[in-house]
Amino acid sequence: MTIDISELQRLDAAHHLHPFNDNAALAKKGTRVLVRGEGCYVWDAEGHQLLDAFAGLWCVNIGYGRPELGEAASRQMTRLAYYNSFFQCTTEPTIRLAAKLAELTPGDVNHAFFVNSGSEANDTILRLVRHFWAVQDQPQKNIFIGRHNGYHGTTVAGASLGGMKAMHGQGGLPIPDIAHIEPPFWFADGGDLDEDEYGLRAARRLEDRILELGPERVAAFIGEPIMGAIGVYIPPRTYWPEIERICRKYDVLLVADEVICGFGRTGQWFGAQHFGFQPDVMTLAKGITSGYIPLGAAMFNDRVAGVLKDSGGELAHGATYSGHPVCAAVALENLRIMQDEHIVEHAREQIAPYLAQRWAELGEHRLVGQARITGLMGALELVPDKGRRGFFDERGTVGALCRDIALRNGLILRATYDSMLLSPPLVITRAQVDELFDKAWKSLDQTAQELGR
Ligand SMILES: *Cc1c(COP(=O)(O)O)cnc(C)c1O
Repeated sequence: MTIDISELQRLDAAHHLHPFNDNAALAKKGTRVLVRGEGCYVWDAEGHQLLDAFAGLWCVNIGYGRPELGEAASRQMTRLAYYNSFFQCTTEPTIRLAAKLAELTPGDVNHAFFVNSGSEANDTILRLVRHFWAVQDQPQKNIFIGRHNGYHGTTVAGASLGGMKAMHGQGGLPIPDIAHIEPPFWFADGGDLDEDEYGLRAARRLEDRILELGPERVAAFIGEPIMGAIGVYIPPRTYWPEIERICRKYDVLLVADEVICGFGRTGQWFGAQHFGFQPDVMTLAKGITSGYIPLGAAMFNDRVAGVLKDSGGELAHGATYSGHPVCAAVALENLRIMQDEHIVEHAREQIAPYLAQRWAELGEHRLVGQARITGLMGALELVPDKGRRGFFDERGTVGALCRDIALRNGLILRATYDSMLLSPPLVITRAQVDELFDKAWKSLDQTAQELGR
């Protein structure tokens, strides 16, 4: 089968608005059309084989091309393609998935509300958590605290909870009663403090803000265990336990947005387990289906779900596709494969230590100011001066250059500003880690050469 690429690019430019793109620039350049995936590799329409060190968009945890997921979808579509969970009904895969998630998530986070994406899960959490306080006669306890540069999706609540300035600038966000504190990013912000001290100091910004607003006004704190989209900000290990202590002290619900960290990314099933804290509420998406089909879930602990069930009356919230049986069947098959094939253990024991070693070697490159990594999630911070924790004057140009060079070398890395981000499928092998290293080193060399010109 031959594909007329220029025809596809012409149609794309004429009719397709791309998310998070300069669409005019892209139309001129022409989009890249991907046609096939297998394991850790994807192929584009021109026949280039690319090592996908980003797992699509942090999501293809079990790798591409597993026929079992397609078969699970096909079986469920043929048997019962759709039924809703509104009319006092639901379907078998929906129930089984809720129970499976309750088993996997830590502590007493036992109750799933299904939606179609991480963004919708966070919208659901905003509404249901505010409702949780309201039905307990505390309607004024409705403020969510998030973090500047956090990412919680693109719907109205998701983008408001997130702290991306460019997103707030489009569409009149954030909505009222959302506050943001500075994120923990030692590289830029740590000064002379050691990382552990800095982690405590960064966490105490939450306490300061709660006291400023009044604890009786603050409903919840939301954070990604490791901040992904902004550039894989890995907090010091002191950060999350201190955040948890502060949330408990002021009875502020702790929401872990596990959309990236969940399902093995850190080497544990969830980021909260890696950092040793217990969330009250969790946001799940991406790896829940390894990206094979859209699905998100808001997960609540016994306390929150109990109040919502017992004193909330009718829950006035839901989507046509909440708990879609085909998506649930695919998620179940994905989780079955992850468990049966011990994919999280493979990531933690076989890959993470080796990847960390090779990542640290990349950190030796003269262009790299910091090589940070946890589990299978990392970043290389490209810097103008290796001896100093600082940034390029015009942020983002060098990162984009390096990303484009890496692509030419057959390697997909994402760039946020000048951070080169890593998030490969969890099934990556040591040989593929070596390939990743070689291609990344070569790309850093070529980037440095270009800069030298
Ligand atoms: C991707 C992401 C979301 C949004 O999920 P979508 O499925 O894109 O709506 C929310 N939170 C985090 C941490 C994410 O990385």
